[in-house]
Amino acid sequence: MGTSKLYRDNAYTTEFDAQVKHLAKVEGGFEVVLDRTVFYPTGGGQPFDTGLIDEIPVTDVQERGDEIVHMLEGQPKSRTVSGKIDWHRRFDHMQQHAGQHILSAVFEKIAGAGTVGFHLGNQFVNIDLNVQRLTENQITRAEQLANEIVFDNRAIKTYIVEPKDISKLPLRKPPAVKEDIRIVEIDGFDYSPCGGTHPSHTGSVGLIKIRHWEKSKNNTRIEFLCGGRALRDFQGKNESINRISALLSVRDFETADTVERIVSDNKALLKTIEGLKESLCEYEARALVDSAPLEKGIRVVKVLFDNRPFEELRLLASAITRSEGCIAMLCNTGEKSQVIAGRSEDINMDMRKPFKKVMSQHSGRGGGNDRVVQGGFESAEDAEELLDMLHKEILKTVYI
Ligand SMILES: [Zn+2]
Repeated sequence: MGTSKLYRDNAYTTEFDAQVKHLAKVEGGFEVVLDRTVFYPTGGGQPFDTGLIDEIPVTDVQERGDEIVHMLEGQPKSRTVSGKIDWHRRFDHMQQHAGQHILSAVFEKIAGAGTVGFHLGNQFVNIDLNVQRLTENQITRAEQLANEIVFDNRAIKTYIVEPKDISKLPLRKPPAVKEDIRIVEIDGFDYSPCGGTHPSHTGSVGLIKIRHWEKSKNNTRIEFLCGGRALRDFQGKNESINRISALLSVRDFETADTVERIVSDNKALLKTIEGLKESLCEYEARALVDSAPLEKGIRVVKVLFDNRPFEELRLLASAITRSEGCIAMLCNTGEKSQVIAGRSEDINMDMRKPFKKVMSQHSGRGGGNDRVVQGGFESAEDAEELLDMLHKEILKTVYI
């Protein structure tokens, strides 16, 4: 005789007494098999129940053959034990599980989409439907119909049918077992073989909300929440949308349009800022060139910046070397130590040679072409000396 599954007779039983049939010490605790139990074992997409047996926490429940194995943190003291499941967790599972029956049935009816996967996680619940694509309209209709079944408060009945009588029922899917076939019927709406726990009426499932759907291999994955989970999700979203609407000073239903406008305004502003930065760099470059000393007939602009975005150094170097007869050597220290050096087109030299030499002596890296080189180096304290050396090396090789 296996374990008698009390959860199958009545999903609302939370406490029970039982006899210990087997007990074994295993890694992490004790495996306990009872003659009967209300603890649901992991199966059919529904996770196991937690709770207490003789006040000892139950950490896992698995079905092994016709027995239910409870994993306990400690050892029960006597052969007769009393147990109690965590009803909050169980009821949540009942809501999600029954919601899954309803949604699966609805998608079958609306889109001819069969359910090929079901996952009830700690946070998310999803089903995989064997269709590649669903329209927004189908999703909306499915959600609407599913909730109508909830509002109808139909009875959810469970009964065992003889294998010979199976063909008389309009089953949504064939049973996975050959005997002891348990049918879960949502009164006149859906008939499924299932060994899980469900509420007595669809009203207890509460709101069924589809959160999201996406293509998943050849299927479509529907993520949804029922009852308490749907309420918490709505509370979180409501709080979020109220905050956003207060920040934007618009009504909640106007937030999406307002955010869309802000994002587009922001893009335009960034573009304007980029343009302004470029013209500002042009002015700065002109001033730097004008005040730079002449050496070998070349204007040498050598500046050490602190904490300036490297992108601005690039813009500056490019603006400086657009003038004739200029060499720019710009260094930045701060989060990173970086250097950029460039020459005007009319100066005949390869910037890479002096740059390579200087960088190799300052644990630096980088490269470029014969006109512009750039790179980073280890120590900010080297910056000034590195610039001086680069200055010297460049002027050594320069021809005008
Ligand atoms: Zn079920």
